[in-house]
Amino acid sequence: MKQITANIYQISLSIVNVFVIEGNGLTLIDTGPAGSADKIFAELKKAGKNPYNINRIILTHLHSDHTGSAAELKRKLKVPLLAHPADATLIEKGLSSRSGNGDQPMQLSPGAINWLIYHTFIKRAPKTIEPVKIDELINENDLIPVAGGLRIIHTPGHSAGHISVLAKNEGVLIAADSCANSAGLGLSILYEDRESGIQSIRKAASHNFEKAGFGHGKLIMKDAAKQMRQVFGRF
Ligand SMILES: [Zn+2]
Ligand SMILES: [Zn+2]
Repeated sequence: MKQITANIYQISLSIVNVFVIEGNGLTLIDTGPAGSADKIFAELKKAGKNPYNINRIILTHLHSDHTGSAAELKRKLKVPLLAHPADATLIEKGLSSRSGNGDQPMQLSPGAINWLIYHTFIKRAPKTIEPVKIDELINENDLIPVAGGLRIIHTPGHSAGHISVLAKNEGVLIAADSCANSAGLGLSILYEDRESGIQSIRKAASHNFEKAGFGHGKLIMKDAAKQMRQVFGRF
């Protein structure tokens, strides 16, 4: 578990990052693929935190690498799950992809690396998860009273119900999969609607924050908003 600020931590699972925010207990952002609960618990314990202090779980979007352990963690912890209504309805049905639902194909971002990762890994990722009830719906501009306030920013594009979380007092944006920082800051590999995804990144980057965390790739520890404005202003 890597400490980002006084109250925010990143846990890197094999393919995805999840985040922990301390304040009135612990808030977990995303859950990793199915079978991640033990790893998350172990990482928290190693850092001297009690996993049973988690009192809410925010899901940034429906994909199985973020929601796969939601049902298991909810069973273990008996805590509310929060998600945006557009993705909540699918998560409750156990669907972790709109394209898997036959509704619309995802748009693959340009570049050979994206093509390769998509065809090697993502295409085979599970399109279903254990169905789980979402207890609280979160929307644009909602404020969760933790660590000086966690602002929900609706960032559709990667998925219709994708949200990012701005911890203003900590100067951190949890951008999740709105973009990625794998081979440098850039687009996520897939979008339901890339154009709306780019607009969403610009919206999130109009706020001020120093650091940013992503579902995939490395943390940005300095000038994150500025870097995002520069990179995504060009698209
Ligand atoms: Zn995703
Ligand atoms: Zn992801």
